Amino acid sequence: MRVPGIKVGVGMVGLWAAIAGLSAWHNLDMLNDQDRQAALTRARMVVTVIQTTRLWTAKHGGVYVPATEATPPNQWLVDPQRDVEINGRPFTKINPSYMTRQVAEMINAGEQLSLRLTSRRPIRPGNAPDDWEDRALIEFEAGLAEKLELVAGGTGPFYRYISRMLVEEPCLKCHAAQGYQVGDVRGGLSVSIPLAEFTVVSDPIRRQTLLVHGLGFVLLAGASLIFLARLQRSWLRLEAARALQERMVAERTTELSAANDELARSNAELEHFAYIASHDLQEPLRMIGAYAQLVEKRYGPALDQDGREFLGYLSDGAGRMKNLIDDLLAYSRVGRAEAALADVSLEDLLDNALINLDASIAESGATVVRTTPLPQVRGAAPLLVRLLQNLIGNALKYRSPDLPPRVAVTAGRAGPEWVVSVSDNGIGVPADARERIFQIFQRLHTKSAYPGTGIGLAIAKKIVERHGGRIWVEEGPAGGSVFRFTVPAASPDVASTQQGRP
Ligand code: ADP
Repeated sequence: MRVPGIKVGVGMVGLWAAIAGLSAWHNLDMLNDQDRQAALTRARMVVTVIQTTRLWTAKHGGVYVPATEATPPNQWLVDPQRDVEINGRPFTKINPSYMTRQVAEMINAGEQLSLRLTSRRPIRPGNAPDDWEDRALIEFEAGLAEKLELVAGGTGPFYRYISRMLVEEPCLKCHAAQGYQVGDVRGGLSVSIPLAEFTVVSDPIRRQTLLVHGLGFVLLAGASLIFLARLQRSWLRLEAARALQERMVAERTTELSAANDELARSNAELEHFAYIASHDLQEPLRMIGAYAQLVEKRYGPALDQDGREFLGYLSDGAGRMKNLIDDLLAYSRVGRAEAALADVSLEDLLDNALINLDASIAESGATVVRTTPLPQVRGAAPLLVRLLQNLIGNALKYRSPDLPPRVAVTAGRAGPEWVVSVSDNGIGVPADARERIFQIFQRLHTKSAYPGTGIGLAIAKKIVERHGGRIWVEEGPAGGSVFRFTVPAASPDVASTQQGRP
């Protein structure tokens, strides 16, 4: 992962700008909508008042007002009773249309609102529609009832509103002659209101909205950038720590592998030395043994008691040294020899081991039992024979003084391998010595109690490990010990004569 950089910063600021922009736009749009709604309400109110008044006037067939210069007789009103005199004073009839015009003129004198009556078929030409009104009147004929639009004007934008006027019964008094029927679109009442009327209220809210959003954006973007800067710092610190850790691990790994190599090399050297030394010691030892026997044979009778005793120690020592050297040689051979892997029958291996142990079995009166049939395993036959021989040999050697030895060899499957167990009814291994006894030269008894070199189990362990397995000892269910080791199961897929180190 890379350190979050300038791109992330720009992205975050961009995101906040987009969010603030969208929110501001939404709020301003709502304010525009409010303005529009207020304009519609006000225009509708004006129109309702005028319409009602017109209807009232129409219902009464018009009303008489004093004829003055400001209110001259309506030249467009065809009515024989248009002008009358009451108490010698001239009165003239005001029909709805004339009334609307006069009211509109009064309203228009103010600045906030303008109102007019319009029709596509006006009796008075001045009531003809402008383009905008004309389009609306055409739409009214198609069914529309009212229309509101924001349009541009010389003194600024303003709302234009027009409401449909339908012919009602009282209207026919004047308009039946034009061919109108009840329900026809007679025209419209048109109202204009400057936008400023509403923005005077909404503009402060607009400014406030923009300010709040601007401030919000600055704060959030600033906070994000500060957070990003801190994140970058922590990130870099973390990266540095990780790099340091990786370097240390790499160094340790190198050191460890060098130490491993060194260990393997010195092990190999040691094995080589043990092999050479043991090998070279065999010959002089044989000579010592042979000459000790010769001396005993030829000069034995001439020696006194002490002499014969010393000679006995000499032969005995030479014999034990021979055993030690043989075992050491065997131990070093396990590590050195190329192991030929093959699918082998544990049954056959055990038979061979028992043949080698024939004398000990006979001497100890031991019984060796097995689960039949023992399985096929994959391994190096001579090594596995040696392994079984060492374990069974120990079972015979470390027998209980009061019981004839009984050894059982069994096997149980565990995934890709077999667990082979050699159990005995001997003296057992104390719990605290169960790991130690697999180390070379580790013995739990004196030579006089039980002879031995302390190499047998080390050889066994080495053989098992060369097969990729483990070896351990447990206490037997009825005393004694159970030595168990794992060995790969024979694989029908693997060529039975494959060569190689396990
Ligand atoms: P050695 O038998 O030559 O002493 P091993 O390496 O074969 O050497 O055994 C190491 C020690 O483990 C023995 O000295 C003995 O104390 C103990 N041991 C091995 N096998 C058994 C066994 N079957 N029962 C009890 N003790 C055992």
